[in-house]
Amino acid sequence: MALRNVVVEGDDILRKKCREVGVVTNRIRETLQDMVETMRAEMGVGIAAPQVGIMRRMFIAEPEPEKLYYMIDPVIISQEGSQTGDEGCLSVPGMIGTVTRPEKVIIEATDLEGNRKTYEFQGFDARVMCHENDHLNGVLYTDIATNIRPAPEPDELDEDFID
Ligand SMILES: [Zn+2]
Repeated sequence: MALRNVVVEGDDILRKKCREVGVVTNRIRETLQDMVETMRAEMGVGIAAPQVGIMRRMFIAEPEPEKLYYMIDPVIISQEGSQTGDEGCLSVPGMIGTVTRPEKVIIEATDLEGNRKTYEFQGFDARVMCHENDHLNGVLYTDIATNIRPAPEPDELDEDFID
């Protein structure tokens, strides 16, 4: 495993639509493991492939410690309700902003073994999944956020998160 460099805002890579993964090869699995290592090293709760320069439709998320999801070719098949809260992004260092997202989402995605699975997420988990999924379409939270501002020190954060 290896740490990858995180691409930051301003790089075109973050603005492109990613291609489907399709077959889950060992190389894809290795990339995902590197993404896990990178996300944890950066204290994030999720990271999408384009953030490490890979233009494929996949992300990982760890909304709670040890609750790790590998989402390959994810598709949001339904969403309902709404929630509003602060978000950050490893690709937009030092900033946060307020974003409205669905309260609940159902996502279909391929897992590490290549099987399609359906997941239901609510609250914070749903927010993280939607944020990461947006990256696959070249969308950053700053596109849809209000009140974008410098992030407070970590011990002042409430519901905020950095990914
Ligand atoms: Zn992000």
